[in-house]
Amino acid sequence: MVGTGGALVEFAAVSVVFGGKVRALDDVTLAIRKGEIVGLVGESGSGKSTLCRVLIGLTPPTAGTVSVSGQPVHEHLAREPLAFRRRAQMLLQDAVASLSPRMTIGRTLDEPIAIHKLPRAETQAWLADILRRLNLPPDVLAKFPHQISGGQARRVGVARALLMRPEIIVADEPTAGLDVSVQGELLNLLLDLQREFGLTYLLVSHNLNVIRHVTGRTAVMYLGQIVEEAATHDVFAAPAHPYTVALLSTNPAVDPSKRRAPIVLQGEIPSAVNPPSGCRFHTRCPVAQARCTSDAPALVEISPGRQVRCHFPFSLAAKPRPGLRETQSGLHEPSSPG
Ligand code: SF4
Repeated sequence: MVGTGGALVEFAAVSVVFGGKVRALDDVTLAIRKGEIVGLVGESGSGKSTLCRVLIGLTPPTAGTVSVSGQPVHEHLAREPLAFRRRAQMLLQDAVASLSPRMTIGRTLDEPIAIHKLPRAETQAWLADILRRLNLPPDVLAKFPHQISGGQARRVGVARALLMRPEIIVADEPTAGLDVSVQGELLNLLLDLQREFGLTYLLVSHNLNVIRHVTGRTAVMYLGQIVEEAATHDVFAAPAHPYTVALLSTNPAVDPSKRRAPIVLQGEIPSAVNPPSGCRFHTRCPVAQARCTSDAPALVEISPGRQVRCHFPFSLAAKPRPGLRETQSGLHEPSSPG
């Protein structure tokens, strides 16, 4: 069963404010259909991890609702907490730290079987199948976390999630810290599992190549808000939000003729305690105009399937607006700076 509009997961105007003043998420609306792989990108502090935690019920929204199959997560958790925990699993960023150093891998994997009272014989057979798919040798069960590699620890995390036969997997930087070949293996594995079991992924990664190759849709976050959301191909081919342009400019194109000089944004991401007035990106936006400092843009659909939070969205393919010129980086900046 899915929610209204065919979405399995729906964030509706979700805000999270920590301690009454840190606005970690602000008015986030995002729908994820069953079987989709949606990527989240943005600098550290943009709210990606908070969004993941809201989805699996670890962080309650201060305002708005996140629903799974049309029912708010807090209701799932109130009525059938264990069933919901099985449906939505999270792959943690620090796989090694998430494993108890005092427990063998076998005991670590046995714990959720006991907590969720899963049928033992059937689950053990499923576990053996999972280990085989993950290329984890059976003797890994007798080892302690310090006796296995980082790549194996990541696979153990995947095994622990799959044991529950989840529908939704939230993966926060699943390949961070792994060497390139192990990253590729793990991503291919996640894709195989997604195809085989129709899983739905929300994937966070700083690695834009991972997002480009694995996801079908991408949401770009800045200071707690989604500033652009569209099919991944469209985001990478012609970013419309100036922040997206800057973010993607740091990711070298494979084709040298399409490479552009990286745009170095000035300053750090502002504090979520006291975000800038108007457009939150105006303090760093190379094409900000007077209106941007006072008038907060809404996330609006500028073309079918593409939403952008900017008064002056543009495409790299488009000609500069009057009064602007195209820089070497592809941004359109005022013709007469200052
Ligand atoms: Fe830049 Fe203005 Fe668009 Fe914000 S609204 S991203 S400041 S052009």
